[in-house]
Amino acid sequence: MEIRDFLNTRYGISPSVADFVSQCEEELAPVFAGIEKAKQYNNLKVLNAFQESQVANRHFFGTTGYGYSDEGRDKLGEVFARIFGAEKAIVSPQVCSGTHALTIALFGLLRPLDAMLSITGRPYDTLLGVIGLGQGGNGSLAEFSIKYLETELTHGHIDVQRVLDMLHLNKNIKMVYLQRSRGYEWRPSIPVAEIGEAIQRIKERFPNVLAVVDNCYGEFTEPLEPTDVGADLIIGSLIKNPGGGIAPTGAYFAGRADCIDRVGERLTCPGIGTEIGSYLAGYLPYYQGIYLAPTIVATALKGAVLTSRVFQKLGYQVFPEFSQPRTDITQAIRFQTEEELVAYIRSVQDASPVDSHVTPYPWDMPGYQDQVIMAAGAFIQGGSIELSADAPIREPYIAYMQGGMTYEQVRLSVMLAIKNIGLEI
Ligand SMILES: *Cc1c(COP(=O)(O)O)cnc(C)c1O
Repeated sequence: MEIRDFLNTRYGISPSVADFVSQCEEELAPVFAGIEKAKQYNNLKVLNAFQESQVANRHFFGTTGYGYSDEGRDKLGEVFARIFGAEKAIVSPQVCSGTHALTIALFGLLRPLDAMLSITGRPYDTLLGVIGLGQGGNGSLAEFSIKYLETELTHGHIDVQRVLDMLHLNKNIKMVYLQRSRGYEWRPSIPVAEIGEAIQRIKERFPNVLAVVDNCYGEFTEPLEPTDVGADLIIGSLIKNPGGGIAPTGAYFAGRADCIDRVGERLTCPGIGTEIGSYLAGYLPYYQGIYLAPTIVATALKGAVLTSRVFQKLGYQVFPEFSQPRTDITQAIRFQTEEELVAYIRSVQDASPVDSHVTPYPWDMPGYQDQVIMAAGAFIQGGSIELSADAPIREPYIAYMQGGMTYEQVRLSVMLAIKNIGLEI
């Protein structure tokens, strides 16, 4: 059975479209080789962390009630700390989302009259309400007199001199905040090396300022993580990269022991911290997920590279371009019209293993400023290490795709998009 024939008979994809995508792939070998190299390093790093932590079968089982001495929970934290080169980590199924985790971290580390300074520009949309840039009356940081400041990226890079000037002027800045991934912005993601360099220069002059990194979408795309290069705390979602598509919910925190302890006191209660927290369903999918994560992330990266190359060849602006270095799994594609954008998102849905028969429409998603259309045919609801695509309905019409547990699914989504947009090949 030829793949081309299968695609044609089952999906109505013409052989010329299939051939075009195959041609695009021929140019990708050197990029895929780089992804493979990072994967190998990260797989070994994770395997070694399991061995050093002496993970055993008993750690996979859950507890009930308070969860005192929940060995599986504590061991999982130990494994994550080793993987991320951190002193300590918390891995918790009790955290509902990445935004929830970031909220816990910010409230855990900041106190009234402190200020946080975002040095990678405006943070991810859902953070705006947390900071207090959205509507008031909801218990944001601003309502606790915690101030928010930001510096824009300059030509896509952290403006360290400006950051130092601001720190000099404002002694209340207790934290610099960095977002590694572009999120829903047409801007470069910040490579780990650049994060490390900025933190080093900031700490030389202001050693007590905390460096906190939103690491969502970044894990395992490079051999090093921000905690390896000086970050005091990193935060990420387990329905993204480090959950490997297997973890059903939750988030992690990794970093300096004192920071993790303060986060723990906020995660549960002051004075109790990480002594409690049970999860009867058990931790097996978390261990399996982090174990598989480097492989899954590499698969997702290959899918993003293919998507980038195909749409670029078709004449669309893409970001990043296929051969540019990556530090997260997201891929942006700029479409000409809302119709093309919607057709692409629907093609991603059509290519999914779950809910491929439903049609996505734009909706008012909680936490977002504009209407959003999403393709999410995932096993884990909203899981975006699985192939997914989101787009705020606003000009310019940019779709952000990420994830893919199999390369073939991403490949199919691209071919369906060419067909559904009605492009001539
Ligand atoms: C996903 C993500 C978050 C958190 O989003 P949730 O949907 O709340 O998990 C925050 N920052 C970035 C950069 C993200 O990609």
